[in-house]
Amino acid sequence: MEKFDIAIIGGGIVGLATAMSAQKKYNNKKIAVFEKENSLANHQTGNNSGVIHAGIYYQPTSQKAKFCWPGSLMLREFCDSNKIKYEMCGKLIIATDESEIERLNDLYERGKENGVVGLELVDQKRIHEIEPYVKAVKGLWSPNTGIIDYKKLTESYADIFKKDGGKVYKNHKLLNINSTQNNIILETNNDDYETKYLINCAGLYADRVAKMMNLDFDVRIVPFRGEYYTLTNKSEKMVNGLIYPVPDPDLPFLGVHFTKRINGEVEAGPNAVMAYSREGYKKSEINLKDMFESFSYPGFWKMVKSNWKTGISEQYRSINKFKFVDSLKKLIPCISSDDLTNPGAGVRAQAIDKNGNLLQDFSIVKTNNSLHVLSAPSPGATSSLKIAEHLMTELTI
Ligand SMILES: Cc1cc2nc3c(=O)[nH]c(=O)nc-3n(C[C@H](O)[C@H](O)[C@H](O)COP(=O)(O)OP(=O)(O)OC[C@H]3O[C@@H](n4cnc5c(N)ncnc54)[C@H](O)[C@@H]3O)c2cc1C
Repeated sequence: MEKFDIAIIGGGIVGLATAMSAQKKYNNKKIAVFEKENSLANHQTGNNSGVIHAGIYYQPTSQKAKFCWPGSLMLREFCDSNKIKYEMCGKLIIATDESEIERLNDLYERGKENGVVGLELVDQKRIHEIEPYVKAVKGLWSPNTGIIDYKKLTESYADIFKKDGGKVYKNHKLLNINSTQNNIILETNNDDYETKYLINCAGLYADRVAKMMNLDFDVRIVPFRGEYYTLTNKSEKMVNGLIYPVPDPDLPFLGVHFTKRINGEVEAGPNAVMAYSREGYKKSEINLKDMFESFSYPGFWKMVKSNWKTGISEQYRSINKFKFVDSLKKLIPCISSDDLTNPGAGVRAQAIDKNGNLLQDFSIVKTNNSLHVLSAPSPGATSSLKIAEHLMTELTI
């Protein structure tokens, strides 16, 4: 049986950033990444919005706030050194009527408190220069927000990890874990492997991997599908960068927005609905085990009780394109359903605690021989190098 010092479960951006950092820190240790798919970054990382966030929104005491801005700078530096394409196209958050101005001003203050550089409150004239199709009374301009292909970035982390001596096992699904006092046996769909230390970066399955070690952190992952449309080639000119509304403080999501992609396309969305499968990218995909796990968790029903109105409204918008367009019109009034094509979706791992609270922050838990990234929502990709740096301070081997 092949033996490792550190095994990382999950070949997404957090897993590979962690692997790369661990191999740099412990260059004499044997480190491996196990990924169930035949390529890296196939799930949250490869289906995300591709935004390099600056870190404006987050509670200043949260890990998101502490990791995002420095993480974005580390990411840009890494990309510059490794010739990975990214674009600082900037982001405009807009107040569409007077009632939103106070919240926009608060966001500006919060962004500054979080250390974000370059933020600027802008008037209608400047808004028109930045995004001519937008109609708003006031805006918050973040020039240090950008776009990138996170799958490519993950592959680049993997290349460095392998060059430094690490191993990446694709098509290796972790099925079970047998832990003894001194080692951990990993049963995969291929061979069995032994490791002294395990780092769980399994994204949508992080709670299940923890359970394989008989650990119950009282957190359940519920999958939410973020549905979006792509603007037609003809309509792409309506968006220069990233256009977001002022978020509703009562909702866990940022609201539908326009996102320019690094390949030049523009996405509009997301509409957030519960998915009936952890990797359910289509409405029709149902996985009974995943559904049972959500529905049998008491925290799930408490979450439904406090969020049912939003849930119904998002479900309605999911089946009604005109309602979707209505939400987009708030940002760009002249947009119509003819401008939208190619519906797509990403699935995000929403961690819920036993009281039904949606875990908003990153959640990382430690035992004597393992570390578990139980929740790494957005801006997890932006913060990947900072999360990895943090994990290295927690790792005791
Ligand atoms: C729709 C959407 C949009 C987002 N937009 C942004 C954005 O613009 N900017 C940003 O910074 N962040 C964004 N995020 C958040 C970001 O994508 C995540 O924080 C990040 O991808 C998390 O990476 P990860 O490696 O933890 O998870 P993942 O990318 O999901 O990787 C986990 C990996 O574990 C593997 N795995 C699971 N179980 C097993 C097993 N049993 N055995 C072996 N392998 C296993 C999976 O196959 C998967 O490859 C977005 C997320 C979503 C869902």
